[in-house]
Parts: sequence; C-alpha cells; structure tokens
Amino acid sequence: MAADRIYISVILPLRLEWEPCYSYTGDIPCPPESMTGPEAEIKDNRTEGVRRGDRVRVQFAGKEYIGTVDQVGILPQISPDKIKGIISVERELAPVSEEERTLWKQVAEYYMCSIGEVSKAAYPAGKISEEKKLAGMQQREEERRNKKISLLREKLAKLQGKRPQEGKIREKIAAAEAELQRLQGLMPGEGNTLPMPDDRIMLSQAQEKAFLKIKEAFGKGMPALLKGVTGSGKTEIYTKLACECIRAGKNVLYMVPEIALGRHLEMRLQEVFGARLMTFHSGESMARRRDTADRVRTAEGYIVLGTRSSIFLPHHNLGLIIVDEEHDSSYKQDSPAPRYNGRDTAVMLAGIHGCDIVLGSATPSLESLYNCMSGKYTIAELKERYHHAEDAEIEIIDTIAERKKNGMRGSFSVRLIEHIRETLDEEGQVMLFRARRSFSPAVQCIECGFIPKCPHCNVSLSLHKRKNDDGHGRLVCHSCGYSAPFTGQCQKCGGEMRGLGAGTQKIEEEVSALFPSARVARLDSDTAQSPVYSKETVRKFSKGETDILIGTQMVTKGFDFPNLRLVAVLQADTLLGIEDFRADEKAAQLLEQFRGRCGRRDRRGLFVIQTSAPDHPVYRILAEGTKIEETALLSERKLFSYPPYTRVINIEIRDKSEQRAMLMSTKLYGILEAGAQPYALTGPFSPAVDKAADNYIRVIRLNLRKDKNLVGTKRRIMTAVNDFESKEKYAGHIAIDVDPI
Ligand code: ADP
Ligand code: ZN
Repeated sequence: MAADRIYISVILPLRLEWEPCYSYTGDIPCPPESMTGPEAEIKDNRTEGVRRGDRVRVQFAGKEYIGTVDQVGILPQISPDKIKGIISVERELAPVSEEERTLWKQVAEYYMCSIGEVSKAAYPAGKISEEKKLAGMQQREEERRNKKISLLREKLAKLQGKRPQEGKIREKIAAAEAELQRLQGLMPGEGNTLPMPDDRIMLSQAQEKAFLKIKEAFGKGMPALLKGVTGSGKTEIYTKLACECIRAGKNVLYMVPEIALGRHLEMRLQEVFGARLMTFHSGESMARRRDTADRVRTAEGYIVLGTRSSIFLPHHNLGLIIVDEEHDSSYKQDSPAPRYNGRDTAVMLAGIHGCDIVLGSATPSLESLYNCMSGKYTIAELKERYHHAEDAEIEIIDTIAERKKNGMRGSFSVRLIEHIRETLDEEGQVMLFRARRSFSPAVQCIECGFIPKCPHCNVSLSLHKRKNDDGHGRLVCHSCGYSAPFTGQCQKCGGEMRGLGAGTQKIEEEVSALFPSARVARLDSDTAQSPVYSKETVRKFSKGETDILIGTQMVTKGFDFPNLRLVAVLQADTLLGIEDFRADEKAAQLLEQFRGRCGRRDRRGLFVIQTSAPDHPVYRILAEGTKIEETALLSERKLFSYPPYTRVINIEIRDKSEQRAMLMSTKLYGILEAGAQPYALTGPFSPAVDKAADNYIRVIRLNLRKDKNLVGTKRRIMTAVNDFESKEKYAGHIAIDVDPI
C-alpha cells in the first residue's frame, strides 16, 4: 500500500540543539490496535500511523536510536530526498505524553541544555537493546505477576473453604489478601478496587491552622511553603493533603531528597495508602523503575514516593506535589545535564498539570523564603513540636581555648566527654557528626611537610584503614576514587608520614578507647557501601542496641530516635570554610536539622558544637533562633548580587591540558563580555577543586538580573556558547550549570 510521505521531527537522546526531521510512509507496519487507548482520542496532530509522543527507531550519524516524535506533518527545511525514513514505530514502548514533552522543553529551556538530554534523563535506557530488553522483561514480569495472582486466588478460595474463624487460618487469609492487593493494586485493567485512604487524621490546632493556610494558597493557585520545626507534624499534614487529593480522584507525587535510609516514612505512608503507594529512586533496579513507570502511566489514585528523578515519570491527572526537605541540596543533579533542581522542577511540573504544590522544611532555603516575602508563595508555619518537646539546648565549645587549658583529649573536649558519659550513665543514646569520612582527611610528612595529592586530581589523599589491614592502610582520593597503599614513609624524603586531623574512622577509634564499654557504630559512605549494613546499623540504633552512632552528613537528617539525648558535631568549622556564597546557609540548615534529631519526645536534649570559631554568625543564628531571612545572610546576598536577587549561571570548562583550559575559558569569557550585557561576569577562575580525574577546570560565573529579559538573555548566552563550541570544535568540554548549589 503506497501512502503519502509525512515529515516528522524527532527528539533524540543526544545533545542536539535541533530536532532532526524524518519521513514516514503509511506502509510501515502499524497494527490497528495501536489506535485504541486514551491517546487515540486526541485527534489533532494525528496521522495515519504515527502520532506525537510515539517512540520511533531512526538512524542518526550512522547509529540507531530510539527517539520521541515531537511534531508531525512539518515542512522539511531541506530537500525531501535527503530526508531519511524512520525504521519503525516502536509499538511496545508506550508513547510519551504531551505533559511529559512540555516538561522536557521547559527543563531544557530553563537549565540551558537540549531536550534530548532531558529525554534521556526521563528514559535513561537510550540504547535500543536495553530498552527492548526491558520491554521484554516487563512482559515476563507481568506474566509472572498474573500467574502469582491466579495462584493466590486459588489459595484464598481454598483457605476460605476451611474454617476461617480459626486464628491461624484467619492470619493466613489476611496475609494472602494483603499480598493479592499489593500485586493487583493499581494494575491497568484490574480496575481500581482499592479502599480509599482514611483521611480522618486529627490535626492539632496549630496544624489545622497551617493546613487551612495551605489550602487557601491552593485555592489561589499558589505554591505553599510549610515551615515547621522537626517533629511539628509536617508529615501528618502532607498525609492529610494527599488523602484528600486521592479521595478526589487525583494522583500525588511525594518527593524526598533520599530514600535509602529513610524507610521510616515509607512505612508510615504504607499504613495509610497501602497498595496505592509506589516508590521510585535510583537505588532500585532499572526493571523495577520501568515497571513503576508503567504503572504510573495508567494507574488512578496513586501516590509515588520518590527522589528527584520521579519528576520525569509519566504522571497524569496529578492533583498534588509535595516536596519535603525542600532546602536539601540532594535535589540538585550535578551531572550529567540536565543539571536540574528537583524542587524547582516540581514547581514547573505543578504548573504544567495545574495542580497544587507544597514545599516543606524545618529550615527552608533562602530562595523559597524570598519567594514568600515577594508574594509568589504563601507561607504556613508550625512553631511547636507536636509532642511539645523543647528544642535541644545548645552548648558551643571553643576548641582552641580548651586546648590552651589542656581541656582536649584528641578530637574530644573534656566537657563533651563528660556529657557523653552522663548520657550513657542515664542509658541515653549519643550521635556524633563529623563532616569528613576516612581515618585522616590528609597525611603529611613530619620531616619535610609534604602532603601527598591524587595524581589525577588537585585533592589531598585521605588515609583509610581497614579492619584486616596488615599494613598501614590506604591513601584514597575522594574525588576520583584512586587509591594506593600507604607505606607510612614520605615519597620525597623518606620521613615519617602522619595523619592530619581526624575523620569518622579515627573518631570511632577514639570513642571506643574513651568509652570501652559503650556499643559503637559508624555510618558514612564507606560503611554505606553495604546497604544491608546501613539498614542494620540504623535498626540497631533505633532499637537501643547501640549507644553511640558516629557518622557524616548521613546521620544528620531524617531519623527519629526516641532515646537520642545528646548530639554533637566535631570540628564544625569544616562546614563553614567553603568558598561558596551558600556555605553559611547550608551550615545553618545542616546544624539545625541535626539538632532536630535529638530530644524529640519527653525530655530536652543537648546539642554540643565543638568549633575553633565560636563567634561565627551561623552559631548565633542557631543559638538565638533568629530567622535566617532576617539575618545578614539575606542582605549580603542583595549587596553582592547573589541569588535570590539574581540568577547565577556557571559555565565550566574542562580540559586535559591546563593551558588549553585557561586559553579557551579566557576566549569564551571575552565573547561573553563583548558589548553591554545584562549580566555581571566573574572569572575565569579555578574552583576549590580545580583538577579532577585528569581534567583541569575553569569556571566563568554569570550573575543575571531577574527581569523580563531573563529568558532572552539565557537564550543568547546558550547560543554564544554553542557557537563557540562548534567554531572551536570544542564539544564535550563545556557544561552550563543554572542555579548551581
Ligand atoms: P515532622 O514531619 O514535622 O518532623 P511528624 O509529622 O513526623 O513531624 O510528627 C512528629 C511526631 O508527632 C510523629 O511521631 C507523629 O506521629 C506525631 N504527630 C504529629 N501530628 C500528629 C497528629 N495530628 N496526631 C497524632 N500524632 C501526630
Ligand atoms: Zn583523584
């Protein structure tokens, strides 16, 4: 059957500034069943066999890709006989919805990358074989699930035929019913027979007030910011909002920065939403994530608990988005593009779906607070903890002064040791936070002062010891992972090498020596290599089977341990010393979050900060409970033209040759500087780590005015960078980061 040729544009999972054009003729096999389903009702832009959003297999630059159809029926810009036909329409891959494609475009525009790069983040298996394999796997999985369901049904019928009043049998029936519900819950075609979540959550007066304020914001189509101290019952409010949304027949996206260790929340939501709850994060297998995506595509009344990438799921009929711990920097994707922030992208997604959105945190970001001040968001506050426990008391210990008085024992001040001892005597638990993992963050020769660095990065090597190490341990690069045995001898002069400072591993050793009868555990990204170990560590600590838990950032957030009486941060200065305009804000948030771990119930906890800079304003903010938006932190941002008053864009140049990195960044700087520009330029400068994995790094920073020309300015910058890249044949060396963190 000969048919007319139709021209389509296709989004390819590549860094392309344009969408290549392909032709489609009706004689490409297209079974009639592909025309059923909800998409078939969208008549516009529909042609014989290929529609917008369809996945198609095409050839580009000698390779085969699966892309997404964007426009159908376009006028080709080049001679039609130069346009290739598509190879096939991939019917077993579900089409990409209008909302998804709109999100891709908005993210690409905002974060200055290509739509293809965003599409790749949304559908990561860009290679054909992988996608096909996954499609096959899903099918097999589905078959397996169906088989399980029918077996379970048989079993249930048999059990019910016995004596269902008997306790044991009743238990078995309940278990089988629960499993059956999980398996068939939210499956397409099964209909949605799940019970509605119970929204009779009794809120306290303060919660009720905040709840109504949020609803009022929703009524006005405005995002809401819920600012509430840890334990004030934010989760309870989210849950109630989510219940209402599902009862109204809509879907919910509940975003969190990380899930790995925070199973606690998952269990709480599971209780309320049962089989309606799905999780989605990068720790799950690719097959499972695709499976969740498939269920999201068709399910009704679902709630997804997920990390930032859950934003790219094929959501439909969204009624509510919750962004918990909205200040958290884990929402930002560093690399590869799109370098998006899950929180801000969630606001975009809410706009596309016209749905409600609530951001929440005990320590909201300055950006969100500023949005409340300028009337873009509505703020709702919870000032007290639900159980009325007081915030942990703060004690700041000046380590320099203590050292002079002979009041230090290794990393610990005598005062902190006493506090720990007292807490242990009263059978309370202790958590210690140190921002550096390893035994020693660096090593140095005591003879010549030499500090070994990574051969590939401009980073000092850290000393790591291992339990069964016969030698001295290993030197490890925290930037690229390079490691070498530590001989204890200087490679320059043969002198003796000593550790500089104490990381979590050394702290653990010190703690065991100071408190020999205490049960001690450590949690950092070294121990977290084993998820089983991490889970077990958290479980033991929450059961009171461990007395002292030592860890990095990992321990500062998300947990609720009722018997935790004392939290302490060692060498808090490392949090402050970073050359970054956000460092103080982040330090204040981190410390406040950590403080919130403690004394959540009946009695007041203690938060000890050991620092060599006790007068730093961050500690004052904490101790005096000053609102961060009312401190110098915000006025300084204005003074120095930093966000939220401007928009920052970093252009990063990476090159194996240091000279070329310098040359090219200076050249690009010159281009961006030419003429009067509505932005301020700094650079090219060397970032704190200016060489990583054999690449030299230079950064050009732009501070853009936030005005109506912003979009146009960004577009011009992007064009300038792209032109530079192609003219200089410099592709792959430049990365643009909008709103860097
Ligand atoms: P947050 O999310 O602000 O840290 P949570 O929602 O976890 O606070 O609440 C802290 C504690 O108070 C939890 O143990 C929670 O079960 C309890 N809680 C909060 N609100 C209510 C409520 N309305 N009814 C019963 N318990 C509540
Ligand atoms: Zn390295």
